[in-house]
Amino acid sequence: MAVEYLCKACRGHLNVKTSIVLAAQKMNSSQRGLVFLNPEIGNYTVTTHPSFQLKEGEEYIFTCPICHSLLNSAKYDHLVRIIMVDEDKKEYDIYFSDVAGEKCTYKIRNSELEEKIGPDADRYSKYFEVPEEDRKYL
Ligand SMILES: [Zn+2]
Repeated sequence: MAVEYLCKACRGHLNVKTSIVLAAQKMNSSQRGLVFLNPEIGNYTVTTHPSFQLKEGEEYIFTCPICHSLLNSAKYDHLVRIIMVDEDKKEYDIYFSDVAGEKCTYKIRNSELEEKIGPDADRYSKYFEVPEEDRKYL
């Protein structure tokens, strides 16, 4: 079984063939379209229709193309959350940036950062990294 990506709200499958398909809208704009993401973590190739091009540095609102729920995190500013289920049926929260061109992905399991990936990964890792001295209080 391959890795699956699910909507955090309806748990519908977001990966179709070789892409993760999300609906996106530019923040404070009427521009919207479909975004095809590469399901390989760390591969930041994004495909869109030529009529809807993502603009570097702009923020986007991502929604589930199945149930239309908002996928941008309410908890972490600038991050979008979807669910990943791996070959062993282990579930992870996958966070990535809602800013076009920012290359960072965070893989979270049981509220713990398992992996941070991408050249911009340090930008939001503070959300997930608990300082060593605070760990004893968890
Ligand atoms: Zn959904």
